[in-house]
Amino acid sequence: MTGECPTQVMPAGDLAIAAAARVLGEGGLVAFPTETVYGLGADAGNGEAVARIYEAKGRPSFNPLITHVLDAAAARRLARFDPAAERLVSTFWPGPLTLVLPKAPNCAVAELATAGLDTIAVRVPSHGVARAIMAAFGGPIVAPSANRSGHVSPTTAAHVLGDLGGRIDLIVDGGPAPMGLESTIIACVDAPVLLRPGALARARIEQVVTLKAGAGVRASDNEGAVIAPGGLASHYAPRARLRLDATSLYSGEALLAFGREGIAGADRAVLTLNLSTRGDLIEAAANFFSHLRTLDTCGAATIAVMPIPHAGLGEAINDRLERAAAPR
Ligand code: AMP
Ligand code: MG
Repeated sequence: MTGECPTQVMPAGDLAIAAAARVLGEGGLVAFPTETVYGLGADAGNGEAVARIYEAKGRPSFNPLITHVLDAAAARRLARFDPAAERLVSTFWPGPLTLVLPKAPNCAVAELATAGLDTIAVRVPSHGVARAIMAAFGGPIVAPSANRSGHVSPTTAAHVLGDLGGRIDLIVDGGPAPMGLESTIIACVDAPVLLRPGALARARIEQVVTLKAGAGVRASDNEGAVIAPGGLASHYAPRARLRLDATSLYSGEALLAFGREGIAGADRAVLTLNLSTRGDLIEAAANFFSHLRTLDTCGAATIAVMPIPHAGLGEAINDRLERAAAPR
């Protein structure tokens, strides 16, 4: 972890809202209350800001994050809504309902925020402080729960400070989160399916749409792997074979490089992309999924991957590389 930075705590109000918007604009991290739990926010369009969320939370893997916007119109610029999704949001937004939807073609959210998936989780919160910060910032904000990975979700500013103090820039204290439970997550990719039970009861959802039976048991701390009912990808999987910890390159291979050093035969690569020439793991995380996607479509059957250090975000990068390399 690069770790320590002073964490400011400000009571919700005009000063705090302006400070939050400024920090977000500079790529920093701001915790703020929503009606469900406290979220840890970053500029959704800034890959390095998103990488800092994983670093601050100490997540050992890149799980996709929920993108927060002010209204359904803003959500429609990020995702494709089917009729069931439209019915759900006209009934329950703003509020504690998250939808997982197919990404829109020009979705302005960093690839890392969706962990390389073709789907995106979106929500319109109702909490006044969250909405004021979103309005002042003026763009989509990704915000997972503001806790260290594996810890319970925080419902007060004091919880956030205890868990993330020294690791984030600002906490806006707007009192206890009213519901104290995470949002309910429904995927509308094909038939609507419950991915995570939460603050909006299943029975209320079923008054509006029919839910496919059987899905939706998730790790209790919400930080675990994404479950993948019928047709939903659980993690990004390239078509090309991945060869990890490569120290030389065979002809016909593409190269995912890291750092300044070269490897033998690198000049033969079909295409080379470097995660971070200066060896910065935040930059590497921000580039990871988009570089992998580009190399996957360059025609090479194999992508050779140079060794990535395991420190800090390197753990999450290596976790994703191992999954992507696993035989299918
Ligand atoms: P949190 O923000 O901490 O409440 O957790 C967000 C939850 O949303 C995690 O459990 C993620 O796995 C889930 N999630 C976010 N995006 C997607 C997606 N595209 N597909 C499936 N699940 C998702
Ligand atoms: Mg969480």
